[in-house]
Amino acid sequence: MLASKLKKEITYEFPERPETGGVMQVAPGVLWLRMPLPFALAHINLWLLEDDDGWAIVDTGVFTDESQEIWEQTFSNAMEKQPVTRVFVTHLHPDHAGCAGWLTKKLAVELLMSREEYLLCRILVADTGRPAPDTGIRFYQSAGYSPKALEIYKKMFGSFGQYVSPLPESYRRLKDGDLVSIGANDWEIIIGRGHSPEHACLYCADLKLFISGDQLLPTISSNVSVHPTEPAADPLLDWMASLRELKDRIPEDVLVLPAHGKAFRGAHARLDQLIDEHGTGLAALQELCKEPKRAIDVFPALFKSKITGTNLFFAIGESIAHLNYLLNTDRMTVETDKSGVHWYQSTR
Ligand SMILES: [Zn+2]
Repeated sequence: MLASKLKKEITYEFPERPETGGVMQVAPGVLWLRMPLPFALAHINLWLLEDDDGWAIVDTGVFTDESQEIWEQTFSNAMEKQPVTRVFVTHLHPDHAGCAGWLTKKLAVELLMSREEYLLCRILVADTGRPAPDTGIRFYQSAGYSPKALEIYKKMFGSFGQYVSPLPESYRRLKDGDLVSIGANDWEIIIGRGHSPEHACLYCADLKLFISGDQLLPTISSNVSVHPTEPAADPLLDWMASLRELKDRIPEDVLVLPAHGKAFRGAHARLDQLIDEHGTGLAALQELCKEPKRAIDVFPALFKSKITGTNLFFAIGESIAHLNYLLNTDRMTVETDKSGVHWYQSTR
């Protein structure tokens, strides 16, 4: 009993972490680079893998002067002026894909990404500077946004490219189950869905390492959102399926190298926790919606802290993801009032 309980704990591998902008070795030929972010979440972990003739990079940081300076320092110091061989990007979010275009063009190396991430990233960069579409405004109106919140959405629309250097015009596709040789090791590509459309994780059985990106984080639960481009999407179904699948594809004793937070062991325990948390959230949501509610009214069922500022954008997407999941499993119904606002009510 005790043994199984102990086995399920999450433990952190290293007492230290790299300084911001600094590098630390986590395994032979595997370096951990901690890059600053200009957001509430103030860092991202990037990974440098010793390749045949230099270093392969996994994830790149947001595209800012500060990130570029840190990359230049890393080339000279940690990489000892060995060339970058290629750039892997786990998924399209600006903290991961931001410098990928700049790095691959500057260094004339290949970008490796899954197809949906590559294409969606190019679309979002192309949307930069365009006005918010009517469908987007209607989407947030139907969720219960106030006129003030709608103004913030309109202002924020098209800001994706602010932190993303445009991707190169060609790339190499990563697919689920691919085995990619990097230096002396083979890394298996494991695709996860729900946080982003086709998120690539890298798993090395020999080194017992799992570069998880945002698919598995030790303390934060990754945002799972519905966006105006696909209002009826059910990303939570994909997310839960991916969490369950990961338990079959990576062993319990793997060292997880996450994009945020510290390297940890206890992948299965963390996956169980995340599955449980969503289950608890869904149950609380059903309880709250015994009386009809708008998406904007359901935050207390899903979030502990008060939602303010740009967090509203993430919270509304995540709330609709949970509501759509319940709609698709017949635990919720939705009605639209005369002003176009959706009201959700539990069926039991
Ligand atoms: Zn992400």
